Amino acid sequence: MPSCDILLTGATILTMDESFTQHASSGIAIRGDTIVAVGPDALRHDAAETIDCQDRVVMPGLVNAHTHVAMSLVRGLADDLRLDVWLMGYMMPVEREFVSPDFVRLGTHLGCAEMIRSGITCFADMYYFEDAVAEATAAAGMRALCGQTVLRFPAPDARSYEEGLVRAREFIERWKGHPLIVPAPAPHAPYTCTPEILRACAELAKEFDVPLHIHLSETLQEVDDLRKTHGMPGVPWIRKHGLFEAKVLAAHCVHVDEGEIRTLKNFGAGIAHNPTSNLKLAAGVAPVAKMLELGANVGIGTDGPASNNDLDMFEETRLAALLAKGTGGDPTAVPARQALAMATRLGAAALHMDGLIGSLQAGKRADLLVLDLDRLHAVPRFSRDPGGIYAAIVYSCKSTDVTDVMCNGRWLMRNRALVTLDEPALMREARERARSIDAFLGSREISVLQKLIAVGGAVEQESFEVQIKARLASPDRVLAVMDSEDVTVIRSSRYRQHDIYWSFDDPEQGRLRYREDDFLDENGAVISERSRLTLTGHATEDRFGAVLLFRSRYLAPAAHSARFYREYFRPAAEHVVAKERRRWLVAYRAVEFYVHLDRLINPAADGYFLELKSRTWSQRDARDKAAIITELLALLGARPDETISDGYVELAARGVRNVERS
Ligand SMILES: [Zn+2]
Repeated sequence: MPSCDILLTGATILTMDESFTQHASSGIAIRGDTIVAVGPDALRHDAAETIDCQDRVVMPGLVNAHTHVAMSLVRGLADDLRLDVWLMGYMMPVEREFVSPDFVRLGTHLGCAEMIRSGITCFADMYYFEDAVAEATAAAGMRALCGQTVLRFPAPDARSYEEGLVRAREFIERWKGHPLIVPAPAPHAPYTCTPEILRACAELAKEFDVPLHIHLSETLQEVDDLRKTHGMPGVPWIRKHGLFEAKVLAAHCVHVDEGEIRTLKNFGAGIAHNPTSNLKLAAGVAPVAKMLELGANVGIGTDGPASNNDLDMFEETRLAALLAKGTGGDPTAVPARQALAMATRLGAAALHMDGLIGSLQAGKRADLLVLDLDRLHAVPRFSRDPGGIYAAIVYSCKSTDVTDVMCNGRWLMRNRALVTLDEPALMREARERARSIDAFLGSREISVLQKLIAVGGAVEQESFEVQIKARLASPDRVLAVMDSEDVTVIRSSRYRQHDIYWSFDDPEQGRLRYREDDFLDENGAVISERSRLTLTGHATEDRFGAVLLFRSRYLAPAAHSARFYREYFRPAAEHVVAKERRRWLVAYRAVEFYVHLDRLINPAADGYFLELKSRTWSQRDARDKAAIITELLALLGARPDETISDGYVELAARGVRNVERS
């Protein structure tokens, strides 16, 4: 009589193999980390330990095909936001501040505990300090494809992509051949990686014969951008840079056409479908039914717990089945059995690990879950259709129906109690982390300046300037002086400016200006553009007659769109000003001044506005310059007008179209 270590008996066994073999009231024999027999064969084994699974279902452990497990520590931090505001306004600043090997270890354990409870035995991860993810995962007894992120920006664990690549190589060298961990390079996405990074990661994956994990064609925006700049969408783009020479696992693939799906299939690339995350961030719905029809290996992933916000594969599998029907207008699309295959065998294939896991077959690793179907929400059951059990699991069951989980022949959960992880301690530590993150964000939220610095990646800059303003009926006198010997013109330019002013409930916060400059040539054609962000103190610092001393607190190139800043800062009011500006830098009485001659387009106003200003650095310097600037204004034939001292935003706020001529 053959022997085994553990024999599960009396169970309904769903093997999830290619022909969906089921065994009623049968067994499964496990020796060491491996399944040695399934079905009637198993019952002929002499077992060291026999476990009665009467009325229970035994099936392969679920495969979470895409996640960022350590982000369990930031779940619920910021929700119902657009992807860029969520990612660059909240996730990345917090990650820059907090993510360390310790943070990642704790987050991984918290996520592993949740995944084990939901019957997951294997997941595909992508994050920073992936070494710590791998360590924590192995300690929890779970299996994972661990992708070390490489991207072109500085990351919490790498100052440059070169450093990221070195880290990825060392990580792969350290973990290659581990019984539970499959290491991989993870170029974050085409829009965060250069062609050079993509190629280097593909070479690395080939050299060590490991998979490569990447985000691909998640949003329409990124695909449109690729088409615009490179004339092709995501799949041909990564193909061009050699990615398909490696074993690719591509997360999302929401915006791919049929040709691209065929390419993914032909190169044996795996796809991770993330229905909740794609819905929550409004990325769209991946054409999963078409992918399956064309024979692609499509798994199901939760994505990171910050964009889901949980790691529940039962929920995800149900949603994958429902979404394909609802969006395709076809209730026969992605039937329950196929959805469950995606969560097991096809997911394993997407991770390039189907030789090892994904189905209950002799020779494969003992990764399985035990499910209690004798629950109120799953009763009654019918035996007429053997496919009915898949529908019961996908449409009725919940992750809390999982009673036992085994990975690599080792129990991770017995009778709903976690074996390898201390759940109460993890929850306690997670709450502590949340308190420090709350404090960090709280201190940032109280000031527009702090929030600006958090996303700007730039340091605070302060500058003072004296300025005086006036209105003119005609530009003639100014133009004549600029051509005269009275001033020395150092340089001049013309441009069209589009300003958005945001103000806040607390006037102490100042006013934020988003400015787009279109530089114009002599004929008024646009030569170039730039956008900048300035935070100005609301109050005037000082005044010398009609000359005001202002403080500008922050000036930076605007890295994001106006829409991004609007959603990120949520200002109390917004005013738009558009104007055409002629600008001269002149020397007058040995002092440099800027002369701005503006024509307002929005709000429309008659005549011209004149603004003179000069940088200053001390009270005394400001006083001296105030005297000279007043003189220059007189030379230009204008009288100070304090009604426009606050700039054009007040005009815009009042909606003034015609102001008295000076
Ligand atoms: Zn992701």
